[in-house]
Amino acid sequence: MPEAWPRLRREEIAGFRSRAYCDIARDILARFAEDNFSVDELTEDIEAAYATFDCPEIVPLVALGHERYLLELFHGPTLAFKDVALQLMAHLFARSLKRRGARATIVVATSGDTGGAAVEAFGGMTGVELFVLHPAGRVSEMQRRQMTTSPHANIHNIAIRGTFDEAQAIVKGLFADRELVDGLRLASVNSINLVRILIQSVYYFSAAAALPSAPVFVVPTGNFGDVFAGEVATRMGLPVQRLIVATNANDIMVRTLNDGVYAAGRAVSTLSPAMDIQVASNFERALFEAADRDGDFVRRNLSPSKDNHELQLPPAVLGRLQARYAANCATDGETVGSIRRFKEETGRTIDPHTAVAAAAAIKYGGAAGTPVVILSTAHPAKFPEAIERALGAKPALPERLSELLALPEKVVEMDAKLPLVRAFIEARLAHHES
Ligand SMILES: *Cc1c(COP(=O)(O)O)cnc(C)c1O
Repeated sequence: MPEAWPRLRREEIAGFRSRAYCDIARDILARFAEDNFSVDELTEDIEAAYATFDCPEIVPLVALGHERYLLELFHGPTLAFKDVALQLMAHLFARSLKRRGARATIVVATSGDTGGAAVEAFGGMTGVELFVLHPAGRVSEMQRRQMTTSPHANIHNIAIRGTFDEAQAIVKGLFADRELVDGLRLASVNSINLVRILIQSVYYFSAAAALPSAPVFVVPTGNFGDVFAGEVATRMGLPVQRLIVATNANDIMVRTLNDGVYAAGRAVSTLSPAMDIQVASNFERALFEAADRDGDFVRRNLSPSKDNHELQLPPAVLGRLQARYAANCATDGETVGSIRRFKEETGRTIDPHTAVAAAAAIKYGGAAGTPVVILSTAHPAKFPEAIERALGAKPALPERLSELLALPEKVVEMDAKLPLVRAFIEARLAHHES
């Protein structure tokens, strides 16, 4: 976490209204990058990253009527919002490694979309080996194929027999070993890496600047990274009414924010697999802020080594969280109903993650006159089964996805045990360096 959040002036934020997305990104990110990248370097990397997006607005804000908006974040190469951060991170990584003549081993745990976005962004990059851990059988076929069909030799897929939480715990375990981190030059592109969150804060600014008054943002939530990027934007000065945390049946965040009891169970599989998460990593950051930046408080209560996460939030901390966040959840049945209702009302097909947020927006209600922005995090074609259940037919497959069906897959399956994963990574690296 930065020692302090930079503040933007009100006029500067209002001025974003007439600026291109890449310019807004540069103005915001330059405040964090100054020791590492010049403004020219940053500009070059931002432009290159977003040139891969299939629409000129990069993240279009679609007006649906009745003060409702859809912020489409899925126009990147893997059709999920993870591209917004990972495409740019890859350019920054490449620049930084090249400058130092260094190499890196990137290890990432994915609930489905981060893996594909990382494979797309880092595939074939010199000096980088990428290891992707996904929970076996708990990602959609398209998500899996986006990871496993990469032709690049620097991509290594591991299917973990377990949940995303177990895969993420393994990655955290690897990073807890300083010697290993230094020895293998480990780096993360999970939202454990704050750079991802900073890059995601940009679209909160671009969307809010385009609206007549401070909006409510409704965010389909798993690891709490995307919605925490909204908190970051507010801490940098963006006026926002409320951040709505929308979850599926894995509703630990809803229970925490409503009742103040943080108690993780085991994740269940749903129609919105990218959100099948119980131990939401970035909630630690929100808690750190809500506890007046008391790192000891967070460490005592949410230490990653503690198996049985259970915490009763002190009233003052809960009050601060509730002033910023509201939360509700949708079952799979409600998700299907939400896809159907959205189609009837707007003519648009939304993916099951966006549908969870659309359902949450209705449950939240909110004051008349407040714009409501639903973050649309994936293209519906990545989740054809859910769409078929809701609308009776599968969505048309964009070319970027249909091409994957014919390609061979490369993946190794293993138990959710840190030593096994570690040995596999070390063996692959030894092989590649010899
Ligand atoms: C990753 C993901 C989410 C959840 O985002 P977090 O930052 O983990 O809360 C929601 N929807 C989709 C489609 C995703 O890929």
